[in-house]
Amino acid sequence: MAQGEPPFKRVLLKVTGEAFCRAGNQGIDFEAVKHLAQEIADGKRLGVDIAVVVGGGNIFRGSVAHSKGMDRVQADNMGMLATMINGLALQSALEGLGLETRMLTAIAIPQLAEPYVRRRAVRHLEKGRVVILAGGTGNPYFTTDTTASLRAMEIGAEVILKATKVDGIYDADPMKVSSARKFTELKFIDVLKGNLKVMDAAAISLCMENNVAIIVFNLTVPGNISRVLSGEKIGTIVREG
Ligand code: UDP
Repeated sequence: MAQGEPPFKRVLLKVTGEAFCRAGNQGIDFEAVKHLAQEIADGKRLGVDIAVVVGGGNIFRGSVAHSKGMDRVQADNMGMLATMINGLALQSALEGLGLETRMLTAIAIPQLAEPYVRRRAVRHLEKGRVVILAGGTGNPYFTTDTTASLRAMEIGAEVILKATKVDGIYDADPMKVSSARKFTELKFIDVLKGNLKVMDAAAISLCMENNVAIIVFNLTVPGNISRVLSGEKIGTIVREG
């Protein structure tokens, strides 16, 4: 890597649905979406390929609806549609900042977005477009965290940037336990054994098997995406050995 060059060529950014609304709220908060788009735009200027997997928890979570009696598959389908709403909101905000984007969905909605085709996603990235990947994996019983792991491997991303509201992985919930200790580095196996709340076990296992690192960082701090992309050591990195 030449001096001053970002350490990554291609990253997969996983953004939870919660980043699209105000803390504790639901739905879409346009200021939150603008913040997210600005962060991505600033990161893009560093010349890194960015694909974004969007969650949908701010609108609909299949597991919650299922716990209230809804058929699981139907509920998860609604959850996947929710990620597409977020994807469209993000696309609009990114385009408002002058970025070229493409949204690809795992469930075809051809009037609104392209269907997800791996080669197409890669081609868009090569052309410098921000690629928004919505609709999860297209299958019920999965999450957008697992989608992020799967897509990272498919498109050859070197790292998953897992954007959260806290500045890394802790041994207890830092919002509730004042003595909670932050890890700067962890192994996949420790995340699985410690049942640490990073991404679900399926997502972690996929990353472990295919050796794709995960950096957990705080998206609410302006400039953090650019910091991570510049190689600044913020948050927690999960990787092999
Ligand atoms: N979902 C799904 N299959 C997938 C990805 C997501 O069925 O491959 C559904 C699931 O119901 C989930 C919802 O979409 O609750 C929203 O995704 P997620 O909960 O991962 O969003 P986030 O927590 O990142 O906001």
